Amino acid sequence: MVASTTIPPERRVWCNRTLNLRAIKAVGYDMDYTLVHYRTGEWERAAFERALGPLERRGWPVRGLTFDPTSVIQGLAFDLELGNLVKATRFGYVIRAHHGTRPLSFDEQRAAYSSTFVDLSDPRWEFMNTLFSLSEANLFAQLVDLLDAGQLPETLGYHDLHRILRGALDEAHNLSELKPLIMADPDRFVELDPDLPLTLLDQKMAGKRLLLITNSDWEYTRSMMSYAFDRSLPGPMNWRELFDLIIVEARKPGFFSGRQASYLVTDEKQGLLRPHRGALEPGRVYVGGDAQLVESSLGLSGAEILYLGDHLFGDVHVSKEMLRWRTGLVLREIESEILAMEKARDADAQLRELMIRKTELDSRLAHLRLARQRAQHKYGPNPETKPEELEASIRSLTEESLELDAIISPLAKASGVMGNLTWGPLMRGGNDKSLFARQVERYADIYTSRVSNLLAQTPFAYLRAARGSLPHDD
Ligand code: IMP
Ligand code: MG
Repeated sequence: MVASTTIPPERRVWCNRTLNLRAIKAVGYDMDYTLVHYRTGEWERAAFERALGPLERRGWPVRGLTFDPTSVIQGLAFDLELGNLVKATRFGYVIRAHHGTRPLSFDEQRAAYSSTFVDLSDPRWEFMNTLFSLSEANLFAQLVDLLDAGQLPETLGYHDLHRILRGALDEAHNLSELKPLIMADPDRFVELDPDLPLTLLDQKMAGKRLLLITNSDWEYTRSMMSYAFDRSLPGPMNWRELFDLIIVEARKPGFFSGRQASYLVTDEKQGLLRPHRGALEPGRVYVGGDAQLVESSLGLSGAEILYLGDHLFGDVHVSKEMLRWRTGLVLREIESEILAMEKARDADAQLRELMIRKTELDSRLAHLRLARQRAQHKYGPNPETKPEELEASIRSLTEESLELDAIISPLAKASGVMGNLTWGPLMRGGNDKSLFARQVERYADIYTSRVSNLLAQTPFAYLRAARGSLPHDD
């Protein structure tokens, strides 16, 4: 029995809105980067390299471009007007920006964004919702450099550039040999999680209906799921028996936001289809369809279905906004950030202590300056201190404040770059929450680094939301 207190910090389940798992009747799962976790370095490099083909066929000089998995993180936004990649706070203030692959200086950044907020409903911005965006961001940055250098002459600006690169990535995902390559060598691309099959088995045995809803096609889904699950299930059981419903090529977010045609896979070996009408039947494989059909087929309402996925918009935002399904975001990179935070705990405590001293000092200085101003202009209450003494105190406190700054600054910097060296932690934007964190708290009822973290929680857990904090709490 795993008591929740023994769970390592990076493997916890965090809760934005209280979720009683006993009230959940069906648990839906996304596949890619949710049930099947890829080594992003390998997968995204393969996608990146396959997207170069279509671009090369347009005559673009993309041969030397290389994928660097550490150069970007999920949760950034493309600025399609200026060709930048930006990180924003929860209020949309830009706190870091690159133009192409080049970091903007503080002045350039201020000039570009002092009167602009990142508003994701504006087509100017394209949000990096998933780890699949890493190859896209790498390509975008390097293509912006080429466009600026005048090497992509027929391209009409950064919007157009992005449209073309999306087309190339779609082609890489859907038409290239990318998927056959992965199916042929899953050991290279997939990071197995041995606790995952038992997690789902526990849920199934607890009476929950399990659903697989993926945008991947049937052939790929079957191959990946079998690879990830069959070896760890008891006896002759295979992954199919875990799921009541399997829906492939779901075309999320459309799956959650509207009505779509549904097809039954009639021949699972050959992938033959026929149009399907009426309720979805347990144990069958369907192509397309929509979330309303899932609800009516299962006889369940949104509050009884929990859906877990890695795509902040396609899996979590739309299912919550349109149908009020209970939602969970799977966020693998948070593990390394939390481990780094744990390591930096002492430095953080020291930083907090120093900030308290700094705040006190600032406040004393402000009062001394006001006393000097009143003395100079002869108004207000009679000063208790002589002008020379006031000056001396202001000088010595200013010095003290500068000395403190010299200690605080490297500590604050180290805490700001935790996670990625360039972009900092996923969920923080400077001292504030990041725009990514804001979206997570708004749309994901829970978030966690991997699905198997639910194993230690059990299917009977009552996951309580933390009390929301406000500036006046401290
Ligand atoms: P899911 O996460 O299980 O719903 O499936 C994600 C599917 O979308 C995978 O088959 C990916 O190959 C595919 N995919 C991810 N990004 C892109 C893209 O940019 N263009 C086309 N397909 C994509
Ligand atoms: Mg996914």
